[in-house]
Amino acid sequence: MKPLMREIVTRALLFSGAPRAVRALFWRDRTAILLYHDPAPATLEAHFEYLRDKVEFVPLSQSNSRGNGRPRVAVTFDDGHARNAELLPIFIKYGVRPTIYVCSSIVAHERTHWFLHPVAREAGVRRLIRLKNGERVAELEARGFRQELLDESATISGLSAAQIEVMRPYVDFQSHTRYHPTLTCCDDDECFEEITVSKVEVERIVGRPCEHFAYPYGIFGPREVELLRAAGYKSARTTDVGWNDEQSDPFRLKAFDIDDESSVAWFAAQLTGLTLVPRYLRLGRIRRFAERLFSGGPTSLKQE
Ligand SMILES: [Zn+2]
Repeated sequence: MKPLMREIVTRALLFSGAPRAVRALFWRDRTAILLYHDPAPATLEAHFEYLRDKVEFVPLSQSNSRGNGRPRVAVTFDDGHARNAELLPIFIKYGVRPTIYVCSSIVAHERTHWFLHPVAREAGVRRLIRLKNGERVAELEARGFRQELLDESATISGLSAAQIEVMRPYVDFQSHTRYHPTLTCCDDDECFEEITVSKVEVERIVGRPCEHFAYPYGIFGPREVELLRAAGYKSARTTDVGWNDEQSDPFRLKAFDIDDESSVAWFAAQLTGLTLVPRYLRLGRIRRFAERLFSGGPTSLKQE
C-alpha cells in the first residue's frame, strides 16, 4: 500500500474505533497469529507494549484451542533471520514464547537465504518464486549462487547454532522447509525433502520435537498437507488473514502478516484485518474476502 493511502486507511480505521470493535466482536475467544520476519527490537517492543493490556499471549501450540473470552495472540517469525537473536530480551520482558520457523539447512549453517542474496535480487525475486524449483536453482547457480555454499559476496543471513542455543529455553523453533522454495513449484522428491528432511534437521539442531510448519510465501496445495501429516507435523501456518479457534483446520492456520517496520498505529490497523480491503476491492473479491475473514476457510489472494 502506498504511504498516503496507508495513512488515510490507518486514520480512518483508528478513528472509527475498529480495533476495539474487532477485539470485542471477532477476536474474543480466538487467536491472532502474528507473522513477522526480521523486525527491529524497538519496533517489536512497541507492538508488545500496545498489546500487553489488551490480549493474552499464548504459544503457537495453543492457537486453535478453546477460547477463554479474551483475545489471544501467538507470535511467530519466518525464516530464522540472524537479527531475531536481538529480540530475546523482549520475549523475556513480555513473557512471550514465540515460534520461529527456520529454514533448517540455512540456520546453524554459514549460508544465505536465496532471496536475500544480491544475485537473486538482481534477477528478480518475484519472478524466481514462480519458476519451477529446478529452474530457479539452476538460474541462481548460473549467476554464481549455490544454496548449499556461501560465497564472499553474501553475508550469513540465518541464526547461528550458538544463537539458537541461547534462545532455546524461551523460543520454539519449528520448520519453514530446508531452503525456502515455493513448495508447489517443487517436484515430488524435492517437496518430500523440504518437508520431511527439514523436520529431522530442526530436531537435530534444536534437540526437541519439530511438530509445526509454515509454508514459504503461504503457498501450498493438497500434496503439501498430505506430506506434512505423513511426516508427523501437527500444524501448518499459512499467510491467509484471519483468526483461529478450536474449529480451525490445523494445517491451514491463519495469520496477520505484519510489516516489519509498522508504526504502532499501522500495526493496530493491520490487526483489524481490514487493511487488506483495498487490495481485495481492486480484485473485485470483497464479498469473498468478508465471508472468509469472518467465518472460516482460506482468504489467501494467492490461491484464488
Ligand atoms: Zn519465509
